[in-house]
Amino acid sequence: MSWQDKLSDSVKSVAPSGIRKFFDIAAQMKDVISLGVGEPDFVTPWPIRESCVYGLERGYTSYTANRGTLELRQEIANHYAEQYDLHYDVNTEILVTVGVSEALDLALRAVVNPGEEVLIPEPCYVSYQAGTILANGIPVSVPAKIENEFRITPEELEPFVTPKTKAILIGYPNNPTGAIMERDDLIKIAEFAEAHDLVVISDEIYGDLTYGTIHECFAAMPKMKDRTILLNGFSKAYAMTGWRIGYALGNPDFIAAMTKIHQYTILCAPITAQIAAVEALRRGEKYMKKMVSDYDRRRRLIHDGLKTLGLKTFEPRGAFYIFPDISSTGLTSEQFAEKLIVEEHVALVPGSAFGKSGAGHVRCSYATSVDKISEALNRIEHFLKNHKA
Ligand code: PLP
Repeated sequence: MSWQDKLSDSVKSVAPSGIRKFFDIAAQMKDVISLGVGEPDFVTPWPIRESCVYGLERGYTSYTANRGTLELRQEIANHYAEQYDLHYDVNTEILVTVGVSEALDLALRAVVNPGEEVLIPEPCYVSYQAGTILANGIPVSVPAKIENEFRITPEELEPFVTPKTKAILIGYPNNPTGAIMERDDLIKIAEFAEAHDLVVISDEIYGDLTYGTIHECFAAMPKMKDRTILLNGFSKAYAMTGWRIGYALGNPDFIAAMTKIHQYTILCAPITAQIAAVEALRRGEKYMKKMVSDYDRRRRLIHDGLKTLGLKTFEPRGAFYIFPDISSTGLTSEQFAEKLIVEEHVALVPGSAFGKSGAGHVRCSYATSVDKISEALNRIEHFLKNHKA
């Protein structure tokens, strides 16, 4: 008997993530090199782990305040004040969440009414569309162009604005393209948001992972602090994916609304992860910088390698992804990813998993060792010889 008709329409309308399928194929094979996962290959730096061990030893095993421990909120506030000259009130403008994943879900549910539209530049992280649908909103994809290094402009957004447009959801440095946005780009988006009175949800989880450019925070753009729900976390920069810890910053109305949902659904982020996150902000920077310089080496290796193989590839400036154009092979991004794993045992993700405008591309994560990247490039070279269009 099927129970499909008992499921909610919003859940039914969300497609399963296009990423997992390739992990499942990879899991059944030996000697697979994975450029698929969007996760640091580093273990969380020891001092961060140690702080959690001590916390447990001292018996910190309870709930915390819904908004997160004051200590962590204070560290987050200090960090934004020092790094971006942005000043958030620890009592009303900061919410500690279970990863950026939860913060994103809360932001969408707090802001979007049924049927309201959210502008989402694509290609983008897989949860943006699904999260909007689950919040009963309508995701409106706005294709970004490779010729413009996947930066989005007001001219590209403008035709998609309707009376139902409520928010714009941006993520940079970008997953899957590695694109960044610079100050001039952001100022234009800020003016656009102001002109159309839109809420801006800005996912800056890769903000610390930039190469040769300093990340610009959207909330620091003129008049944007109150209009922006800024999302960030510890998963990527501090290699803390399994700790499940992130946060949202925004005006007291947004944060109170998000806290309302959070307190009934999650209650609080785990205390152990909050203790570790305090340590990450206090003493984690040098470890983070070392990981960033390792990613940078790998980034240059894979970028040069893919270019030498003749694939059109723009140079990523942030995150740990590269997004080559594979259309010259005559294969779709799905076919390319599927054949590559079956024939050469290299896992990557088809660009189409990140929206229609990702078609013709594949996402390779370079959060893996130099040796593995070199071997993956050898295998891709062999694959390309066998698949000349
Ligand atoms: N946002 C982006 C752009 C991501 O790539 C990811 C994870 O891959 C997340 C959010 C989720 O991060 P978290 O581990 O903090 O939930």
